[in-house]
Amino acid sequence: WSKTLARTGCRNVCSSPSRLQSMSAWVIDQYGSSGVLRHTEEIPIPTVNFAHDVMINVSAASLNPLDLNMRGGYGATLLNLRRDPLSLVNSFSEFPLILGRDLSGVVVDCGSGVTHFAPGDEVWAAIPPWKQGSLAEYVTLTEYEVSYKPESLSHIEAASIPYVANTALSALVNAGGLCRENSFNKRVLITGASGGVGTFSIQLLKAWGAHVTVTCSQNAEGLVRGLGADEVVDYTAGDVAEKLDMMERFDVILDNVGEDTEEWAMRLLKPWSGAKYVTLVSPLLLNTDSMGLLDGSLHAGLTLHNKAFQNITSSGVFYRWAFYAPDGPTLDEVSRLVDAGKILPVVEAQFPFSQVPQAFQKLEQGHARGKTVVEVA
Ligand code: NDP
Repeated sequence: WSKTLARTGCRNVCSSPSRLQSMSAWVIDQYGSSGVLRHTEEIPIPTVNFAHDVMINVSAASLNPLDLNMRGGYGATLLNLRRDPLSLVNSFSEFPLILGRDLSGVVVDCGSGVTHFAPGDEVWAAIPPWKQGSLAEYVTLTEYEVSYKPESLSHIEAASIPYVANTALSALVNAGGLCRENSFNKRVLITGASGGVGTFSIQLLKAWGAHVTVTCSQNAEGLVRGLGADEVVDYTAGDVAEKLDMMERFDVILDNVGEDTEEWAMRLLKPWSGAKYVTLVSPLLLNTDSMGLLDGSLHAGLTLHNKAFQNITSSGVFYRWAFYAPDGPTLDEVSRLVDAGKILPVVEAQFPFSQVPQAFQKLEQGHARGKTVVEVA
């Protein structure tokens, strides 16, 4: 602890992390663009308060498009309801807000009911969006959100995976109906495959024996082929829908792009065979932010219902939205695939903790080729 104490300047010099008072973190005090990020050493340490809490000393975190969006206020209406369901606290009680949705680190304290983890364990996790994030020295989660980090990865490498893994598995398994047992030779199309979710999804599907077609820019072809993609379509050269139309139809489409994709993607699915279009780009949180909780949820629900109904009745294909779902046991399975060499981390850029604003700038430039990681400790 002496190293941590020296670096953070914590006021209480003691051996137990739960007796420290403050920690180093990057926070925002209001929603906005790059200028709202602030470094502080005065954030109260999130100590163990409940029997199933696990307190983690963060070694590395990674950034995702969600961090950029949350920095601007995306999802605040719904997330604040989850943070404070009875609205007992004043508005803006989410501040100072810590971003960063995934971590790799070391357990430092556990609640009395935790049996699976102990101080000293190396773990990784994806953090629910309503909880304080990983751009901080410590994070406290429930044990169900935490998993043992793959032994074969460094903390930097490990931090690149949990959020995209939980998202991809939620989309492909829960919404797409795929799993290890039924994916062999299934034809899957991934749009926007060169980013965080795509580079993970290609590898997972190849580990499960699926046939994977992807769309990406021409300069990402080497990356996605190296990860196992069977067929690659460059969306920057000509009409991507026309090229995909000439291929055999698909069982599942995972859409990481949104925009007009669903207008042409539905006809690429095998009709009347249980084929599914799953998009990660849904208007739910945008609707609740702009229309309020009730109207926004109703509007989103109606949109989903109408699209699903139209597609199932006209061509027998399922239309679904998918969401990131933090889950420790799911990461256990991913950990085994990583240690078996079937899934590799794809770290495009790495920044020290002092350069979190630069890491956000990198993310803002777009054109991700895998993940941007921050070394916290
Ligand atoms: P990234 O930013 O890591 O990757 C996006 C990738 O798509 C980039 O490599 C980009 O490269 C490529 N791309 C952009 N436009 C196109 C296009 N028209 N066709 C093909 N490729 C394109 O994002 P993530 O992988 O982390 O996430 C993907 C999407 O899913 C994001 O919109 C994100 O917000 C959303 N998401 C939603 C979640 C949910 O819970 N609903 C959870 C996680 C992610 P280039 O521009 O160079 O081609």
